[in-house]
Amino acid sequence: MSKHVTHWIGGAAHEGPAQRRGDIYNPASGQVTGTVDLAGPREVDAAVTAAREAFPGWRDTSLSKRVQILFRFRELLNGNKERLAELISAEHGKVLSDALGEVSRGLDVVDFACGIPHLLKGGYSENVSTGVDSYSIMQPLGVVTGVTPFNFPAMVPMWMFPVAIACGNTFVLKPSEKDPSAAVVMAELWAEAGLPDGVFSVVHGDRTAVDALLEHPDVAAVSFVGSTPIARYIYRTAAEHGKRVQALGGAKNHMVVLPDADLDLAADAAVSAGFGSAGERCMAISALAVVDSVADELVERIRERVARLRVGPGDDDRSEMGPLVTREHRDKVASYLESGVREGATLAIDGRMHPVLGGDPDGFWLGPSLLDHVGPEMSCYGDEIFGPVLSMVRVGDYDEAVKLVNGNPYGNGTAIFTNDGGAARRFQNEIEVGMVGINVPIPVPMAYYSFGGWKQSLFGDSHAHGTEGVHFYTRTKAVTARWTDPGQRPEGGVDLGFPTNG
Ligand code: NAD
Repeated sequence: MSKHVTHWIGGAAHEGPAQRRGDIYNPASGQVTGTVDLAGPREVDAAVTAAREAFPGWRDTSLSKRVQILFRFRELLNGNKERLAELISAEHGKVLSDALGEVSRGLDVVDFACGIPHLLKGGYSENVSTGVDSYSIMQPLGVVTGVTPFNFPAMVPMWMFPVAIACGNTFVLKPSEKDPSAAVVMAELWAEAGLPDGVFSVVHGDRTAVDALLEHPDVAAVSFVGSTPIARYIYRTAAEHGKRVQALGGAKNHMVVLPDADLDLAADAAVSAGFGSAGERCMAISALAVVDSVADELVERIRERVARLRVGPGDDDRSEMGPLVTREHRDKVASYLESGVREGATLAIDGRMHPVLGGDPDGFWLGPSLLDHVGPEMSCYGDEIFGPVLSMVRVGDYDEAVKLVNGNPYGNGTAIFTNDGGAARRFQNEIEVGMVGINVPIPVPMAYYSFGGWKQSLFGDSHAHGTEGVHFYTRTKAVTARWTDPGQRPEGGVDLGFPTNG
């Protein structure tokens, strides 16, 4: 039966007719399984208006009551983990265990947001001047919006809205139109948890909906996660419209392998981080910078592991890697195998030959691939491929590896594999990347740290969640107060001088 996904506005599923709709696919079968309504300015305005009207009440809801609702949402999410994971797997293609993993990492942010009373404590200074006290308070911004990518339909929205809502904002989410169902389930769970209507809404859509959000006068801030060209556009457009904005972009994450590394650990890491979720993770390893003396050996160890990888439908327990998200994306990823060879790389592992277990031939399949002898000038190195293709660049030594990584325009994540603590320590200091792993291939920070890259991987100043998330969704106010003792008035009378301390 074909499903139909619509917006969630003001605490209920939206009932109006849709002027435009998009198709939802099951990437493992290649078939359309449903449709999603695509919002225009009218639906966006309805969601923002509901959020604006809900804001004063939510801002003034006590911290204790907000936290009670957050805890209830947490329990409901936990109880619905499998249901969410099944929906994600069916629309995105990732295997169930991976989908469950993303829901768990999103839940971590909800856990973090449950501690919001501690995080919203301002400062207080007694007697900054005689009889005068000063303090700062952190206040919500108002209506804030999140625009999120297809690759983590539950986790990335949860980098944003638990913190934003806990801080007292109201939130309008525009998830990816490719896998829209998880967002609606989360909206239903919020309603069940007792969140007042309008505090969390979901509008589905494409650029039309996003532009309407970016231009809406009642939207105070925009959080975006997606590809670099769109992140740049969002940053510029939102800023032009006077909004606070954080826009996280694409990535080319390097794994540096030094000759003293544990090569089995490095091979396990390259395969897990390169091909998990079919390489469709912003923290996937996509480039291997390997010191030449161990490169041949590493290729062999990766080859052994890839040969054993089971590619198949996400809902089949045997599958370790699913299909890609769309046919067009699969074809684009596969085209880098051809362009890489044309530009001089060696195709050490050809994913087009990899067997697919129980998969529909019309599914968007592409097995894991390894391009060796890749040069920095090749398009398979320069572009973000966002699929199961590892590009190995052979380097002479540590310095050459660091030069390569620092010369790359992206700066999301990176990892070094070595048993030399001194080299690792130097790497963490001099590498120009926002998230660094030492013998850890996917260094996604925990919810109480902040997630974000450098350079072309982030436009704006704040990373997501953790204390930077709290700062992004609040603004501070400094209050200077004088309360005189009963019956006393400060001496001095009228004084036109600029106030100084005394
Ligand atoms: P995308 O940039 O195509 O889309 C992201 C969002 O922007 C979606 O909601 C989409 O509907 C909207 N959008 C698309 N085109 C638009 C336009 N022209 N104007 C306004 N809005 C538009 O990204 P995607 O393909 O959904 O996701 C994959 C990308 O996201 C990869 O580049 C990946 O690296 C990146 N990503 C980055 C991070 C990070 O933390 N830095 C995390 C996850 C994904």
